[in-house]
Amino acid sequence: AARAAAAHHAKQKAEAGELTIFDKIISKEIPSKIVYEDDDVLAFRDVSPQGPVHIILIPKDRDGLTQLSKAEDRHEKILGHLMVTAAKVARQEKLDKGFRLVVNDGPDGCQSVYHIHLHLIGGRQMKWPPG
Ligand code: C5P
Repeated sequence: AARAAAAHHAKQKAEAGELTIFDKIISKEIPSKIVYEDDDVLAFRDVSPQGPVHIILIPKDRDGLTQLSKAEDRHEKILGHLMVTAAKVARQEKLDKGFRLVVNDGPDGCQSVYHIHLHLIGGRQMKWPPG
């Protein structure tokens, strides 16, 4: 219950335009293990990896995308760029046997950081359905 309340509070703050932990990673105020960066996208290793490879991909400019369910037509370019970057990073990480790309959305999706992100997880056999 405490975790759900904290996540709800984080969601409200992000929707009000306040910074999330990912803004501090983008500004490099908080160090991260960056695996890819360009003008629009940053990819870094998750601090709590759920597989041998676990990388988070984010847009540097959130532009209202606290979560995927807020996506509008104007976000098509950045969302496409994130997907293509995920494929490039997967090749860079030599995930040639496959991987999983995940977007957690909202409380039911177990989202904890309200700045849209892709999880790229690989290096082990995944299960289906996911938990
Ligand atoms: O999808 P969700 O919002 O739950 O994912 C957030 C992810 O960000 C988590 O996997 C968490 O481990 C990761 N994280 C991180 N570095 C931080 C804070 C969170 O890699 N400083």
